[in-house]
Amino acid sequence: MKNIIFIAPPAAGKGTMSEILMEKYGYVHISTGDILRNMAKSDDEFGRNLNAMLQEGKLVPDEIVYEAIERRLGMPDLDKGFILDGFPRNIAQAIEYDKILSKTKRNLGVVIYLDTSKDILEKRITGRRVCPECGSTYNVLTGVNMPKENNICDKCHHLLEQRVDDNLESFQTRYQTFLEKTYPLVDYYDKKGLLYRINSSLKDETIQKIEEIIHD
Ligand code: AMP
Repeated sequence: MKNIIFIAPPAAGKGTMSEILMEKYGYVHISTGDILRNMAKSDDEFGRNLNAMLQEGKLVPDEIVYEAIERRLGMPDLDKGFILDGFPRNIAQAIEYDKILSKTKRNLGVVIYLDTSKDILEKRITGRRVCPECGSTYNVLTGVNMPKENNICDKCHHLLEQRVDDNLESFQTRYQTFLEKTYPLVDYYDKKGLLYRINSSLKDETIQKIEEIIHD
């Protein structure tokens, strides 16, 4: 399977699409947000600083992310393909990513831009709930992906949580950061002939289009 980089604003569906691709094709989902949120749990100065940056919705320093990505791509479980969710997040990271790929002997694959309107994203963000155990995502407001039992994960029955940065204030910062820093990657990868654009408002159509791309 082709490796995938998802470029998308917060709550555009990267997590949901990744879950489907993992289950159906054995992809490994690498989310820098998840990796950083785990690192931020450590009860020391580094953990507390990181947690504060995540809560504000600001990007964390590139070097921290490079180290985490290089370590993850060096692991041997990625042969069926991997999905990068949240990295690269700016042009400098995209340039560094090429170096990490050659060091770890991995292929870039395809870049998929999930496009959705800001209105839809706002609704998704406030209702999003995540299972801290298995990473499954739900939404308790939009009616799509509701957990069967109130606030409980369908798959592992763990209590669902709301991410510290899933509030409207943090969303505004994250969305603005996306437009300024991450959106230029759409043009960057388009010029390299690696980019596919998909409107991700509707879940079933989105997954169908992604499948066409990875099977092409
Ligand atoms: P996400 O789960 O992708 O929405 O990321 C949550 C937060 O983690 C972001 O708001 C950033 O603070 C941080 N983060 C995730 N990926 C990166 C990255 N590639 N570079 C810098 N910060 C990141």
